[in-house]
Amino acid sequence: MDVRRRPSKALRPAPKEPSSAPEPTGAKASDALPLPLYFTNALFFTLFFSVAYYLLLRWRDKIRNSVPLHIVTFSELAAILSLIASFIYLLGFFGIDFVQSFIARASNEAWDLVDEEEGEDHRHRLMACSPSIADHIIPAVSSAEDEEIVDLVVKGTIPSYALEVQLGDCQRAVRIRREALQRITRRSLQGLPLDGFDYGSILKQCCEMPVGYVQIPVGIAGPLLLDSFEYIVPMATTEGCIVASTNRGFKGIYASGGATSTILRDGMTRAPVVRFPSASRACHLKFFLDNPSNFQTLADEFNKSSNFARLQGVQCSIAGKNLYMRFSCTTGDAMGMNMVSKGVENVLAYLRNEYPDMDIISISGNFCSDKKPAAINWIEGRGKSAVCEVVIKEEVLKKVFRTSVATLVELNMLKNLAGSAVAGALGGFNAHASNIVSAIFIATGQDPAQNVESSHCITMMEAVNDGKDLHISVTMPSIEVGTIGGGTQLASQSACLDLLGVKGASKELPGANSRLLAKIVAGSVLAGELSLMAAIASGQLVESHMKYNRSTKDVSKVGS
Ligand code: ADP
Repeated sequence: MDVRRRPSKALRPAPKEPSSAPEPTGAKASDALPLPLYFTNALFFTLFFSVAYYLLLRWRDKIRNSVPLHIVTFSELAAILSLIASFIYLLGFFGIDFVQSFIARASNEAWDLVDEEEGEDHRHRLMACSPSIADHIIPAVSSAEDEEIVDLVVKGTIPSYALEVQLGDCQRAVRIRREALQRITRRSLQGLPLDGFDYGSILKQCCEMPVGYVQIPVGIAGPLLLDSFEYIVPMATTEGCIVASTNRGFKGIYASGGATSTILRDGMTRAPVVRFPSASRACHLKFFLDNPSNFQTLADEFNKSSNFARLQGVQCSIAGKNLYMRFSCTTGDAMGMNMVSKGVENVLAYLRNEYPDMDIISISGNFCSDKKPAAINWIEGRGKSAVCEVVIKEEVLKKVFRTSVATLVELNMLKNLAGSAVAGALGGFNAHASNIVSAIFIATGQDPAQNVESSHCITMMEAVNDGKDLHISVTMPSIEVGTIGGGTQLASQSACLDLLGVKGASKELPGANSRLLAKIVAGSVLAGELSLMAAIASGQLVESHMKYNRSTKDVSKVGS
């Protein structure tokens, strides 16, 4: 079918100027049909049904009076012609919609098919027009003009989410989706860039239904002197002061001979919840899992789906008949959520055979705990647990940070320790770890939602060397980072990882890159803590925020 011949082209709503007053979002294109068309439709509907009714009455009379049906009067002839004409009109107008909705249904099935076919390894879905997707391109749609496809999307005939598959061209799909969105919402997306991004690289793994991309500036701070190596740290942020402050911290660390870091633990977790008919049965499985002699059986099941996921242990918790099993495993250089989830599925399949009365409620029972504040991560750790320390010399404190050891130690005790305790903090015994964690996470393609637990940090400060120097440390039990998988392989994020020398999988030792990235995060947090605490201690905080974080533009003139 040639979509270019659709009559709906005439029905397309005129795009509104961006500056015009907003209309309620969600208004359909058909809401904007030109007035005469309603009349024409109504006229043909009325004509069709009235002549049909008239003819039925006439034929009933003829049958009753035994008049042959083929003998028609002039008025009956006119009625038959009117019936045919109105039928043709209505078929032409509404029949095509039906055919196109049939096409849309077919394309949805194509989309589902792609889902199924692509299966486990989504690394193969990097390119926009991968062969598997190309197989599902609908030629009638892909060969139509952009304007016509926009119209079909606006009318809901083509689902917006299926554009990539139907067109086989990610860039074009985004352009069309964006235009359709602007027409539907009557809002302009001017300012949200469209060009300059490889939309094929995010297909089916990073973002669905893209209409553009948000620009976040990347600043650099450094060098960070950590474990005798120097790193320039990329930070993506729109908050002034963060990069400058971290940079000052790095300067102080460098001048003091560098920081030292250690990874205490490395293991990603996933905790399914299962239910039994009784609490005693749930306990039975807990004892089975706790028994060291069963570990190898569980590990064999868990490890079989990945070369990198290696089971470390299972921690159980009971709530009545429900059992929460927190599986922990190494994940090489990947952050590891996919890996650990696959491993857990293997074990659940095995356990189901052994415990037929076990009801699997959810692969994640929140005892993991992912992207939510939870004491379990704070206490047991999740991802990489790191500690990083430095001794800042007295003269450096004076020259770079304009404060003293005693002032900082007291401030840390009252603010980061006692103050956070008063607030009932959970992992928040620090000044602003999340500022630094988020900025590095965004720059290097980590999952920003994991900032929640990755920013857990306790900052300790102590006077050393007869009270002359400052020992400062940050302990961060749940830094969830990877250098492969997820957003890390996108061009910009990958460039930032490369700057740090931790791009992709480590060739020497699986996991070495992601562990080094966690150390760099901890080292940067150390610098950020040092600098902000010093700024507060010396009363510079408000002054520097006014300098770096306050727009000189008249923000009241910026659009709403
Ligand atoms: P995540 O589990 O963090 O979501 P993925 O499972 O999506 O990450 O991506 C990791 C993929 O990279 C897996 O397919 C894995 O086999 C592959 N891979 C290759 N080298 C490594 C490595 N050194 N560490 C971890 N994964 C690796």
